[in-house]
Amino acid sequence: MATQLQIARTGTITDEVKFVAEAENVDAALIRDELAAGRLVIPANKLHLKANPSTSLRTGLRPAGIGRVLTTKVNANIGTSTVRCSVEGEIEKMKAALSAGTDTIMDLSTGGDLDQIRETLLAQCLVPFGTVPIYEAIKDRNVEDIDNKIILEIIEKQAEQGVDFFTIHAGVLREHLPLLENRVAGIVSRGGALLAKWMLYHNKQNPLYEMFDDLCSILAEYDICFSLGDGLRPGAIADATDDAQIAELKTIGELTARAQEKGCQVMVEGPGHVPFDQIQYNMEIQQQICHGAPFYVLGPLVTDIAAGYDHITSAIGGTAAAFYGASFLCYVTPREHLGLPDADDVRAGVIATKIAAHAADVARGLKGTAERDRRLSIARTNLDWKTHLAESLDPQTAEKMHRQACKEIGIEELPSTDYCSMCGRQWCSLRINREIKNSVQRIADSG
Ligand code: SF4
Repeated sequence: MATQLQIARTGTITDEVKFVAEAENVDAALIRDELAAGRLVIPANKLHLKANPSTSLRTGLRPAGIGRVLTTKVNANIGTSTVRCSVEGEIEKMKAALSAGTDTIMDLSTGGDLDQIRETLLAQCLVPFGTVPIYEAIKDRNVEDIDNKIILEIIEKQAEQGVDFFTIHAGVLREHLPLLENRVAGIVSRGGALLAKWMLYHNKQNPLYEMFDDLCSILAEYDICFSLGDGLRPGAIADATDDAQIAELKTIGELTARAQEKGCQVMVEGPGHVPFDQIQYNMEIQQQICHGAPFYVLGPLVTDIAAGYDHITSAIGGTAAAFYGASFLCYVTPREHLGLPDADDVRAGVIATKIAAHAADVARGLKGTAERDRRLSIARTNLDWKTHLAESLDPQTAEKMHRQACKEIGIEELPSTDYCSMCGRQWCSLRINREIKNSVQRIADSG
């Protein structure tokens, strides 16, 4: 019952590695070697991989790889809160995220029947599925009342349900807390804040840190990937790259090595709110401290003042992060900091983050990524609307806008126009270009 990491270390190429290699058109031996080195993960709980004949919906996981030799991946967070809680609503959000092309889903539910929500979502989720188990430990309890037994039972149960990766905030230590004194935004991670409260109340070390070897045993048994959570991530650009963030990162680096030693796959979570000029340093120091383990960043948001548009601030930071070292971008929706997202927000967040990821992949010259841009550009130049729309990251929105434009110029049937409402026919440079090209060709043919 070895993990993907342990099998890769023996030189074997698993079916999961082959699946990822084919999906990304990358050599399977390279993926195996990166996996063995801890620089790539394939989060795939053994139980989620299995087909489950008891339900027609659950057909087994489609494994995805996360690492620098592959395309940058995108995660969508969904989940209930204590204020808004509906299983149907979460299914709708998950479907919106999947149809927009998210690579993974995280269920961050804190309201309602968490088991029912998780099991319902997992049964319909063919992509890697993550959770933050400490949320369930705290639900319906005062944080002071949780203990090691409660935490381990919940982690075991969620492992048995088929979760593929767990956010574990084991790197927040009691001795890090005084470093927060001068912060503008304190601790913004829910898990980090609750664990800090527990440590101060009991005057004890973080239980996730204390139990880390036990956690490794459970995660290795199911081959669940650690996502070592950044409980002290900056929640304001003024707090970025401060002593608390770096102190926690150093502990996470030690935990990464310990978990990998025990055969567990590990990725590391990162900031947060980071000014654009500090992103490169943040990516490089994580890669250095955490031995090249894949970096999973939340944004980062490059300014704090764009409430209502934080999918844009995070996409700007996301491109820089993925260019300089991150492998995995957690989306941010327009409703970040303002309320629980709905399905439309989820869709907008996934698309913005996919743009960020793709832009970085093109800039770092990842094989084949710029080909789609080239195909679309050729189609756009040829006024080939069908290909133009189909190659877009969000064909649904592109087609809707094009239809509206066609109506404005009196064309009902698509795709047939040789201009659009933006410039009008007389000013359409693409149409004029085509005329120039045809004239040049005629001259060449006659001469
Ligand atoms: S009218 Fe302007 S925007 Fe529209 S296709 Fe022509 S050049 Fe492009």
